[in-house]
Amino acid sequence: MIDLFSDTKSRPSEAMRRFMMRAEVGDEQKDEDPTVRTLCERVADMLGKESAVYLPSGTMCNEISLAVHCRPGEEVICDRSSHIIHYEAGGPAALSGVMIRTVDGHNGIFNAEQLGAAIRPESRYAPRSRLVCVEQTANLAGGRIWPLETIREVMTVARQAGLSGHLDGARLLNAVAATRVAARSYAEPFDSAWIDLTKGLGAPVGAVLAGSRDFIREAWRLKQMWGGAMRQAGIIAAAGVYALDHNVNRLVDDHDNAQRLARGLAQMDGIGLDPADVETNMVFFDVAGTGLTAAEIVAVARERGVLIGAFGPSTIRAVTHIDVSEADVDVALQVLGGIVEDAGRIGTKKLAAAHS
Ligand SMILES: *Cc1c(COP(=O)(O)O)cnc(C)c1O
Repeated sequence: MIDLFSDTKSRPSEAMRRFMMRAEVGDEQKDEDPTVRTLCERVADMLGKESAVYLPSGTMCNEISLAVHCRPGEEVICDRSSHIIHYEAGGPAALSGVMIRTVDGHNGIFNAEQLGAAIRPESRYAPRSRLVCVEQTANLAGGRIWPLETIREVMTVARQAGLSGHLDGARLLNAVAATRVAARSYAEPFDSAWIDLTKGLGAPVGAVLAGSRDFIREAWRLKQMWGGAMRQAGIIAAAGVYALDHNVNRLVDDHDNAQRLARGLAQMDGIGLDPADVETNMVFFDVAGTGLTAAEIVAVARERGVLIGAFGPSTIRAVTHIDVSEADVDVALQVLGGIVEDAGRIGTKKLAAAHS
């Protein structure tokens, strides 16, 4: 199987597992795990923040950050495609009691003017605007990169209105690999920022949230309260340390492979995408012109050994990662090209029926 469903599908390599096996460990809940401490210090330094905390997931990084930044009834402003809205099970409402105000950005990216229009004037009637969230890269928008200039302009407007800023950096290092802008430069305008270890970095578990010492002290309270405090967590944190050493610079390979995939797909009849829209490791393409639905193509591709995801009636997402080679991309292109051809040859109804 060639798994292009998500960059979360990578498995820890032999070398990563060997490194994990030898990890020094201690009681993480008591700050006594040397490997967790090393990982947190390295991410804090990379993001230019005072302190950091190791958490089980990126989702917990987001949810803890919302709870530390906001009081119930306050409002969080983010793009309408945000992970916080679509994939965190209503956490902002359930855990922090916040309202979310969406901005209709372009490719997941909004500008300072749009933010200014979304921030509410102080009023006894309105929820209080409290926090701006930015997603780097913008996942559902196709792995798009927020330009540093846009981030700075947006956060300038946020500061003027007294709002704080949070960076969902699940794929921040993909943006860094693509632009060569330092992670700390992207993170600098924000009060809190995190990176995921389980996306492009290829670790099996964990994320690291960074911020000021005070912010991280409060984050730790919630980590404890919500059951995210661990014990000999160095055994898994070691995978993160290994990933920082070995899997960051290679992210450009994933981007090259995504380009290769995009260029191949763009040549197929009935498939719509512009390779120039592919900025990092995500390839979204439209299949309406093939006569098949996204779900049908996904089902046939699965039977032929390629996993991809339907993200709308005619939209498919394919994501490259550490376990996908250039040769795998070529095989995936053959499989997808074959499906499109078969649809034309034996008819879309028959092809879909044969696989339903
Ligand atoms: C994956 C992802 C998350 C959540 O991370 P998990 O580690 O899967 O909980 C948050 N934001 C974005 C943009 C993501 O892609």
